[in-house]
Amino acid sequence: MSTARVYPAPETNVEHQAYWDAAAQGQLLVKHCAACGLNHFYPRAICPHCFSDETGWRESRGLGTVYSFSVMRRVAQPYAIAYVTLDEGVTVMSNIVDCDFDTLVIGQRVKVAFLPSDGSVVIPVFVPA
Ligand SMILES: [Zn+2]
Repeated sequence: MSTARVYPAPETNVEHQAYWDAAAQGQLLVKHCAACGLNHFYPRAICPHCFSDETGWRESRGLGTVYSFSVMRRVAQPYAIAYVTLDEGVTVMSNIVDCDFDTLVIGQRVKVAFLPSDGSVVIPVFVPA
């Protein structure tokens, strides 16, 4: 499948700038709450589980399972959007790249990879593990 597709740069802001900075270094971060012990995604300053502000960053191992996906075929360069549930327990919306989209299945293992976008931001995507 085509990997030539250029992915649009997401908007960034101060609340999750560290996430994008880490992605540029090849690291996937998730937010962890010291008050309730749960991880969350997308990154927020206030924990969505208990509303504590004792949130900090943890590095994900970058391994997960496809929860759901959709392949966009009616475009010049088909692409796959997916929800991936990381082993750290949070679900991330991203793209799956570098694979035959006809072989994608829910529940399959994937690992993170990093792609440049059309802006200055590097985006975490997933490939079959
Ligand atoms: Zn919490």
